[in-house]
Amino acid sequence: MSVGVVRESAEGERRVALVPKVVATLVNKGVEVIVESGAGVNALIPDQLYSDAGATIGDAWSADIVAKVVAPSDDEVAKLHSGQTLLGFLAPRNQTNQIGALKAAGVQAFAVEAIPRISRAQVMDALSSQGNVSGYKAVLLAAEKSTRYFPMLTTAAGTVKPATALILGVGVAGLQALATAKRLGARTTGYDVRPEVADQVKSVGAQWLDLGIDAAGEGGYARELTDDERAQQQKALEEAIKGFDVVITTALVPGRPAPRLVTAAAVEGMKPGSVIVDLAGETGGNCELTEPGQNVVKHDVTICSPLNLPAGMPEHASELYSKNLLALIELILDENGAVAPDFSDEVLAKSCVTREAGTA
Ligand code: NAD
Repeated sequence: MSVGVVRESAEGERRVALVPKVVATLVNKGVEVIVESGAGVNALIPDQLYSDAGATIGDAWSADIVAKVVAPSDDEVAKLHSGQTLLGFLAPRNQTNQIGALKAAGVQAFAVEAIPRISRAQVMDALSSQGNVSGYKAVLLAAEKSTRYFPMLTTAAGTVKPATALILGVGVAGLQALATAKRLGARTTGYDVRPEVADQVKSVGAQWLDLGIDAAGEGGYARELTDDERAQQQKALEEAIKGFDVVITTALVPGRPAPRLVTAAAVEGMKPGSVIVDLAGETGGNCELTEPGQNVVKHDVTICSPLNLPAGMPEHASELYSKNLLALIELILDENGAVAPDFSDEVLAKSCVTREAGTA
C-alpha cells in the first residue's frame, strides 16, 4: 500500500499535505510513501527531509492513496486512475465538475471538510486546524493594516489607549481571533447568532455582544437568518461597529452565501483608519464593501479579504493538516494495511464524496 504526497499547483498555495514527521510515522507502519519532487518546497521542506524520513521521491500520483491539500485541477484529475483514493479539501459543494470527473474516473475521494464535527473525529478536523491559523493570521493582518497600536502603552510621550476589536462569528477561527487580539493587548468583544458561544467568548477574556437573535441550527452550525432577523442584525451592528477600531468577520452558514453582517453604512460610520478583515470572502463576504481576495480602502477604512490565510503560514498549517490526514488514513486502512474503508463508520460515510464509477 502506498501513499503519495503531491506538489500543490494552485496559485499561492504553500502548504503540503504530509510533512516528513508524519511520513516517518507511516513508513514505520509499513506504508510506502512516494513524494513528488518539490512537494514541500513552498513550505521550505526540501526533498532530502522526505528521503530521510523514509520516502521515495517519485511518481506520487500513482500511489494507492494520494494526499492533497486543495481540490485537484483538471490536469491533476487526469493523472488519477480507477482504484485510487484521494484525500483533501475537495470543496464538494463548489467543485462539482471535478467531483464528477473523479467519479467518472473511478477514484474514491474523501473531502476533509465533510468530516463530521464529532468528538471522535476531532483529530481529523482539518476545518478546525486550518480555521485556527486563519483566525490568528487575520488578527496579525489587522494589526499590520491598522493606523493604531493594539496594546495600551504608557510612555514618556503619552498614553495610547488599547485598540478595540470586534469578532463577528465565533466558530474556530473567530475564537482564535479573539484570543490572539487579546494577547496583542486589544479590548475584545465577540458576537455570534449561537447563544451557546457566549461562554466560550468570555473564557478568552472577551465581552459578549448580545443582539437578541438566536439562530442556532443543526449540528452546531448556525442557520440562515430570516429577512427580518437580518435587517435587525444589520441595524444593531451598524450602531455597535462604530465604536471598534478592528472588526474581523468569520460568519458562515454551510452551503449558503456568507451572511451580510456589515453594511456599507456601517463601514461609513467607523473611525477613519479602522480595519475590517473579512474571512468570508470565498462565499461573497460578510461585509457589503468586501472585494474577495483584495485589500481595499472605503470611507478611510481598510477592508481586507484574504482567501487563503493558512497558505501564508505553511509550516505549522501543513504540520497540523498532516496530523489530520494521518488520522484519516489510519481510519481508511484495515488491520492488514490495505485500503478498506468501513462505510458503516459515519466519519467515512459522510466525508466520502465518490466511491467508485457511477456511485456517490
Ligand atoms: P463556521 O466557520 O461554519 O462559522 C463561523 C461562525 O459563524 C459560527 O460560529 C456561526 O455560528 C457564525 N455565524 C453564522 N451566521 C452568522 C450570523 N448571521 N451572524 C453571526 N454569526 C454567524 O464555524 P466553525 O468554526 O466551522 O464551527 C462550526 C461548529 O462546529 C461550531 O458549533 C463548533 O463549535 C463546532 N465544532 C465542533 C468540533 C468538535 O466537537 N469536533 C470541532 C470544531 C468545531
